[in-house]
Amino acid sequence: MKKKIVIISGFSGVGKGSVIHRLMEIDELVFKDQSKIWLPVSDTSRTMRNKEDNYNFVSITDFQKRVNEGYYLEYNCYDENGYRTPREPVLDALGKGETVILEIDRNGMEQILSDERLIDVDIITIFICANANKLQARLLHRGDGKDDISRRMIIAYNELSHLSKYDHIFINDDIDKTALRVWALVHGLPVSDDGFSEDLFYQG
Ligand code: 5GP
Repeated sequence: MKKKIVIISGFSGVGKGSVIHRLMEIDELVFKDQSKIWLPVSDTSRTMRNKEDNYNFVSITDFQKRVNEGYYLEYNCYDENGYRTPREPVLDALGKGETVILEIDRNGMEQILSDERLIDVDIITIFICANANKLQARLLHRGDGKDDISRRMIIAYNELSHLSKYDHIFINDDIDKTALRVWALVHGLPVSDDGFSEDLFYQG
């Protein structure tokens, strides 16, 4: 089977993490312990918000040391903080036949798409959007400060001009539905323009 990476980008606060979490739950429900979806944990140099466990929070010194050692597969600088995916675990997972989900931004996506080490990998790219009011409400809810929110909304606005670079664009009005759409894509099932065909999923 061809190696597969699914890149999921989207506005900060759009609910990518929740969608991915739900996607893994669906896959475990369907395939039990045979689920072959795997998600690396990125390193970041930004400070932790509330109780987050979705990153390795590393000091700038350790971050830079790892950069110098060639530890990472790709990188992004967002709002003056570094975010990077470790390389070896991703290559190992692909070697074991696992589908790797990368929750990374457009810069990271472009690096992955042009990485010659990944030439034999099928790469699917998805962008997740939400309407501006919902986005702002989510950022507030997760504890971002007002200045942070303004900066993130401006970044989101600028990202709009790059949407055409993605294979699929989903509006995340409902986490379960969005996760089902992504799950369908991961497994090569049909996804209509207005989303995943739920009939197909519920046929049993
Ligand atoms: P946040 O601070 O909201 O958690 O993340 C900010 C942005 O960085 C988001 O767009 C997120 O998808 C992106 N991001 C998180 N981890 C990585 C990573 O390892 N690589 C890249 N390229 N982007 C990342």
